Amino acid sequence: MTNDATRVIGEMFAYLERDEEMALAWVESLRRRGDASKHRAVAFRCRKGCSMLEVYPTPRGVIVYRPRYRLSPTRNAEQSSAEGRAANTEDGDRRWKAHAGFLPTEWEGWTMPLACDHAELSISADAISTAVADGKRAVICE
Ligand SMILES: [Zn+2]
Repeated sequence: MTNDATRVIGEMFAYLERDEEMALAWVESLRRRGDASKHRAVAFRCRKGCSMLEVYPTPRGVIVYRPRYRLSPTRNAEQSSAEGRAANTEDGDRRWKAHAGFLPTEWEGWTMPLACDHAELSISADAISTAVADGKRAVICE
């Protein structure tokens, strides 16, 4: 790869990271103010009621927010690696960080992995867009 291509990819990832930080900060500020449910279009939940994904339409695009979650020790060990836990948990073990970003509009095949103690699945951009377009407020993930 040329240096130019490396630079462009580096800038692209920095741009995406800034977008993710902005999306996360926006949702967390709504949650702190107690306004999240007013702005949330739809929440995807497991059968036991865990919020696995929340969707917030904004003028800049649709924000998808995966709340922080905790896995049981058994499930955590089955589903993750030591490197993954070090990079993506709050406690280095089984309290997984919240994550947010903008729903890609032109990325065919994009999916987001979701997990809780009761379910592990991936959701597609199409499934998210369809739930929003249909005006659903809650979707139970099977
Ligand atoms: Zn659950």
